[in-house]
Amino acid sequence: MDCLFCKIVSGDVPADVVAETERTVAFRDIAPQAPTHVLVVPREHHADAASCIAADPGLMVEVMAAAVVVARSERLDGGYRLLANTGSDAGQTVHHLHVHVLGGRALGALG
Ligand code: 5GP
Ligand code: ZN
Repeated sequence: MDCLFCKIVSGDVPADVVAETERTVAFRDIAPQAPTHVLVVPREHHADAASCIAADPGLMVEVMAAAVVVARSERLDGGYRLLANTGSDAGQTVHHLHVHVLGGRALGALG
């Protein structure tokens, strides 16, 4: 399987990694949409949030918990957005579950 985020997890593709746990990796987005824009992924490949929840709900919890830890370490004290684009209508472009951690400025409304 040719998956960009699996390659980042394995180290085959370089990334600016900001945090790691046994089952997750967090790295900076290559095209940041906010002063802080970090992606948190499970090491194991799951195509999206729905697949991960179906296969291993505890892993989804670990991904969300890792995202909150990143927000804290990035000092996003004014608030932040956790976002998981899921499927084509959401514009998901990389089909390996990732939670965006966005913050560092007022983000405005969604949609
Ligand atoms: P999606 O649109 O699927 O929710 O988000 C995919 C994200 O991955 C985008 O924000 C995009 O900028 C980011 N991205 C795409 N390719 C790379 C890459 O090679 N390295 C990093 N760090 N981020 C990437
Ligand atoms: Zn993958």
